[in-house]
Amino acid sequence: MSEVRVRFAPSPTGFFHIGSARTALFNWLYARHTGGRFILRIEDTDKERNTEEALRVLIDGMRWLGLDWDEGPEVGGDYGPYFQSERQKIYDEYLQRLVGAGRTYEKDGAIWFQLEGERYTEYDDYKKAEIEKVRAAPVVIDDAVRGRVERAEERDFVLVRADGSPVFHFVNVVDDIAMGITHVIRGEDHLSNTSKHVELFRALEVEPPIFAHIPLILKESGPGKMSKRDAGALIDNYEERGFLPAAVRNYIALLGWNPKDDREKLDIDEIIDLFDFPGINKGNARFDERKLSALNAEYLRELNLESFAFLVRPRLHLAGLVAEDVDEDYLQAVLRLCQPKARSLDDLAELCDYFFSDTYTMDAKQGEKLEKKGDPKALLGEILPLLEALDSFDAGSLQSMLEAHAVVKEQKIFAYFPALRYAVSGRAGGPDLLPLLAVLGSDRVLARIQAFIA
Ligand code: GLU
Repeated sequence: MSEVRVRFAPSPTGFFHIGSARTALFNWLYARHTGGRFILRIEDTDKERNTEEALRVLIDGMRWLGLDWDEGPEVGGDYGPYFQSERQKIYDEYLQRLVGAGRTYEKDGAIWFQLEGERYTEYDDYKKAEIEKVRAAPVVIDDAVRGRVERAEERDFVLVRADGSPVFHFVNVVDDIAMGITHVIRGEDHLSNTSKHVELFRALEVEPPIFAHIPLILKESGPGKMSKRDAGALIDNYEERGFLPAAVRNYIALLGWNPKDDREKLDIDEIIDLFDFPGINKGNARFDERKLSALNAEYLRELNLESFAFLVRPRLHLAGLVAEDVDEDYLQAVLRLCQPKARSLDDLAELCDYFFSDTYTMDAKQGEKLEKKGDPKALLGEILPLLEALDSFDAGSLQSMLEAHAVVKEQKIFAYFPALRYAVSGRAGGPDLLPLLAVLGSDRVLARIQAFIA
């Protein structure tokens, strides 16, 4: 078989939607799986919406996700130009081929594509007019995902509008031919266009590519396709919110594809290895922010401390928590504790603010809960002198001291934990308490307990 050539053919709108990213990813995966080529083609015939900035959003999003293309903008290739707005000459040539084959006619200034078949007129209730229809042989599509799909076109359609601009169906097919595309992998919303496309391929005497229409992505709850207004729909938001590209890419791969076992966290090399059409679901996928977030947390936990600190540092800096000259050892010690708790990089500032600042908020509700279980000030009053007397403020010494004291008081050591944690952090949860105290260090811990008691 000849080399696989697939393309992602977005129309830049200023948004890089998760649905488009998924189409890009599936094409990229298929190219990498088969050793073929992945082409980026910009369908920018709508001049109003296609700004430089809209293109940037798309290209940045693709690069962020690590979806490199073998041909297209910024990288070139033998089948260019890769912008439809620069391919008018090619469209003119192909139009002449259709004209030559007698498959076009002019009406109302536009150029129409003429279907083959018996013509008849039918009264259209909606348009309140007689409409000419064609009994054309149904087009059969052996879709690699949907299976056999049959559909007959029954009306001629426009190729070139009265203002001279070619329509989507025409340029899309011409480019797929001219660029040697072997497989068209795209959203299911295009399935209904495919019979038009196949008619054009036939009229141009070219064997159509293999089609693979991938299921829709439904919004988190309720019916309906995810739209750009839904939370989690835009790729650039993930970057801003501190998600790791590898985690987002892994998650998007699972929107409509699965490795046929229960695994969710998969290395990109493994996904490339396993990805193929039979693994693509027929049913719609549903966006699930919690699953994405859990996956991101797994990827964050796997980072080594150095990479984790590298990513988190600017965010803590931005939040005003760490200065340029922050003590590197202290920062790493804090991050070692907080890394397992983070679901996104953006969580970090909130998770660990009290390590860097004395003006953290005290969670009032947790404070009330604590009061109900006993007198936290009295408990802390008991152990404050012991803490002050401690020679070395490490987790082991803290533990022995608290255990010895608990025995005297006929208490469990854990009786002291909630009050201690609340006094030094203002909240009820967080990293393991004794290592947390050790990292905070005796000065901060003692001062905070004193302030709390006072
Ligand atoms: N420009 C079309 C879109 O963004 C491309 C459709 C296709 O992949 O054929 O939906």
